[in-house]
Amino acid sequence: MSELVFFSGTMDSGKSTLALQTAHNHAARGRDGLLFTRQDRAGRAVISSRLGLEQPALEVEDDTDFWGEVIGRRLHGEPVDYVVADEAQFYTAVQVEQLARVVDELGVDVYAFGITTDFRARLFPGSARLVELADRVEVLQVKSLCWCGARATHQARTVDGEMVVEGEQVVIGDTAQGGKIAYEVLCRRHHMRHMTQAAARAQSRVPQTLEAAVEDRS
Ligand SMILES: [Zn+2]
Repeated sequence: MSELVFFSGTMDSGKSTLALQTAHNHAARGRDGLLFTRQDRAGRAVISSRLGLEQPALEVEDDTDFWGEVIGRRLHGEPVDYVVADEAQFYTAVQVEQLARVVDELGVDVYAFGITTDFRARLFPGSARLVELADRVEVLQVKSLCWCGARATHQARTVDGEMVVEGEQVVIGDTAQGGKIAYEVLCRRHHMRHMTQAAARAQSRVPQTLEAAVEDRS
């Protein structure tokens, strides 16, 4: 029985590594598959993992039609047994519905990998539709960690080092809102308090400075 599985996790939880491993395992069994991604950190049309693995993939665009992609190949005699869909948080709800249809009507297994929520702790549209439609949602077991050591469940966006909670959901490139954009994983407690590692360090320096000032006076 074919299925639609959504593997969800934060950044740094090994999603792309697992996506590549999944593709490898199926290919090693002689199954034919298609790999898709959207806006991978390494550029267009590639799935890259932080461990250094890379594999070519089809870049998903706004007008990509997964149903058409799969059925078009089948009509040309090209078998498609499974689909690995990375960065699925960036897919549209309609595209996720196409993936579900590919599973149900064409018997293709679809393994989707994505981040559940954005830097504002709101669901990405692709992830929301996957949670709604998937046969199974698997939370990745590799724990990414907040600076405090707790399991990181949320993403923070920083602009020039300052955490922000407003802005475009998806930013192409690493500059926007007039500054350099970066991301950091945090536990929910520190996401709610806007306490990034740098902010925590800055705060922990304050009492030490006060102590030093007190010592200077004595
Ligand atoms: Zn924390």
